[in-house]
Amino acid sequence: MTSKQVLLVEDDEHLRVMLLTALTEYGYQVTATKTASAAFQIVRESELDVILLDLGLPDFDGNQLIPMLKGIADTPIIIISARDKEVQKIAALDAGADDYLTKPFGVGELLARMRSALRRSLQIAQPIRSGRYLCRDLEVDIHKHQVLLAGELVHVTPVEFRLLEVLVRYTGKVMTHRQLLREVWGPNHEEDGHYLRIYMRQLRRKLEVNPAEPQYLLTEPGVGYRLAFE
Ligand code: CA
Repeated sequence: MTSKQVLLVEDDEHLRVMLLTALTEYGYQVTATKTASAAFQIVRESELDVILLDLGLPDFDGNQLIPMLKGIADTPIIIISARDKEVQKIAALDAGADDYLTKPFGVGELLARMRSALRRSLQIAQPIRSGRYLCRDLEVDIHKHQVLLAGELVHVTPVEFRLLEVLVRYTGKVMTHRQLLREVWGPNHEEDGHYLRIYMRQLRRKLEVNPAEPQYLLTEPGVGYRLAFE
């Protein structure tokens, strides 16, 4: 197996060296840089599997860089930042980041997020192509317009199905409230968070064994939701 190509964008020298060493030890091929402009250049010129991006960079803000990177490559972007406020996470995810890790974090946690991002980018096209999501007891068939739980047909309303469909399309990725509202209800409803809460509660009641401890429709506190992926 060829080793995965990682771009590490981090201006803190100590952290950069530490992560570079740790990730290399775990078999990743790491390119490290400290500026946004160098990162942009590297993404343009090379094939990468995952990007680790700090937000506070010396030349410009990581948040501005995200859409630029997404414009030239669909490589998953994991934010590594000390900014721990929900609005800051939401801004990065809305800009197109795939995941968000708040500093300080352990290397184990980072490796887990990277594996998940890599698995997702390898397999994510599959549910979309096949139109079929399968995780433990839950099966969603987009083409047949069917939801099955442990083999039993579950009745869902058209809006519930649309919400499921969007989550399936972005399986494993954190979807912000705003992104989900836009995809399901349209751009004029980005602020209507209560729609989402109501429909998510209904869906959980239908699909989760214990709606208070969901295993499929996961909450990212204060940020949004994520459909479990394994
Ligand atoms: Ca920084």
